Amino acid sequence: MKKVLLNEEELPKQWYNVLPDLPEQLPPPVDPETKKPVDPAKLTAIFAEECVEQEVSTKRFIDIPEEVRKAYAMWRPTPLVRAYNLEKAIGTKAKIFYKNESVSPPGSHKPNTAVAQAYYNKKEGTKNLVTETGAGQWGSALSFAGAQFGLNVKVYMVRASFEQKPYRKLLMQSWGGNCLSSPTDQTEVGRRIRKEFPDTSGSLGIAISEAVEDALTHKNTKYAIGSVSNHVLLHQTVIGLETEKQLADAGVKPTIMIGCVGGGSNFGGFILPFFPRKMEGENIRFIAVEPKACPTFTKGEYVYDYGDTGKVTPMFKMYTLGSSFIPPAIHAGGLRYHGDAPILSLMKKLGLIEAQAYHQREVFEAGVLFARTEGILPAPETNHAIKAVIEEAKKASADDVIVFNFSGHGHFDLSAYDAYFSGRLEDYEYPEEEIKKALKNLPKI
Ligand SMILES: *Cc1c(COP(=O)(O)O)cnc(C)c1O
Repeated sequence: MKKVLLNEEELPKQWYNVLPDLPEQLPPPVDPETKKPVDPAKLTAIFAEECVEQEVSTKRFIDIPEEVRKAYAMWRPTPLVRAYNLEKAIGTKAKIFYKNESVSPPGSHKPNTAVAQAYYNKKEGTKNLVTETGAGQWGSALSFAGAQFGLNVKVYMVRASFEQKPYRKLLMQSWGGNCLSSPTDQTEVGRRIRKEFPDTSGSLGIAISEAVEDALTHKNTKYAIGSVSNHVLLHQTVIGLETEKQLADAGVKPTIMIGCVGGGSNFGGFILPFFPRKMEGENIRFIAVEPKACPTFTKGEYVYDYGDTGKVTPMFKMYTLGSSFIPPAIHAGGLRYHGDAPILSLMKKLGLIEAQAYHQREVFEAGVLFARTEGILPAPETNHAIKAVIEEAKKASADDVIVFNFSGHGHFDLSAYDAYFSGRLEDYEYPEEEIKKALKNLPKI
């Protein structure tokens, strides 16, 4: 099997910022009370200053600090691999490559931004980082990053996952992270939701509200975000920038690029460095893949909505299912956030990216085929991308080069595979009326 690897010195020195290259200006986050754009200075109450600057930066390339590059060098550059065995199993004429982000210590792409956010916070004097986590990948990545830069990390983990995935919590603990089952009794919003819905399985929206409240009510404490934000997508462009060089080394040009989407950070980081090619007219498609149980791009609406259930965040113009969205408990595939990154949402609105949604059983079937051909057991999230790769590969021509982002491995998701193998996974399609209902009472902006 042929691998295309970069030299360590070739690790990118800058991230790519798509904001100046977008064909339209990105609608800014808005304060729901004043209905005016949020003053970026206000955001520094919860985020590192440097991250807030990056959030609105108009510079096309932004330097990666040396300390962050050193942390990246622990596992980067990640391999770009030609999936010969998968190609054969599908019987496709196209070439398939995957960028393997599962080789990081926490097992996903998420530390690409976690180490950057931890570094900036450390530099600015922050002592404690708080965050939320769904499947547990982000909490693990931030705990890992906190250990690298000497910060305390507290993680509000969605109750359903906390109970299904005890090993994630232990991984966070091993890196010094403190993982709590959300909703907790440690925040106003957590106590309110526990009182109103004692049996709640929690949601990302609730956990975000808790983490943000924690940051606002404690000294030397900042919030770190795992997806959706412009600065997170920026940090993740290290994936696409490496991929660009590796594909050039292999002498091929991608025609189809695929990634799974929760909030959009791995997909965004993977495709954005290729976006200027599309604007220059190159033949390249970008396909975002999501679950039918959380169909943000394929069924959601492009409107201003809150980033969280407790309405403590500003409102963002994005594709959304409504911030009160709570995924069905039977859904094991991750990718549960109600919204999608504003940058990707605008691109989707303008027809510059496509979206596909699949049921969880077909998605796990694709992941198992990948494990049996290429050897690595994918994360349930990653399985969505693989399902789309297989479908595209069946239709593709010999000129097609399909490249996808292998966002993470599934070694901590074996209970989801257990449910799949034992026939306990059910397909579920999120009803459109629910979305309409959830979006009806939003302030109009
Ligand atoms: C978190 C996660 C995702 C989804 O998050 P994005 O921000 O959309 O990338 C996908 N795959 C893996 C392995 C993850 O951990």
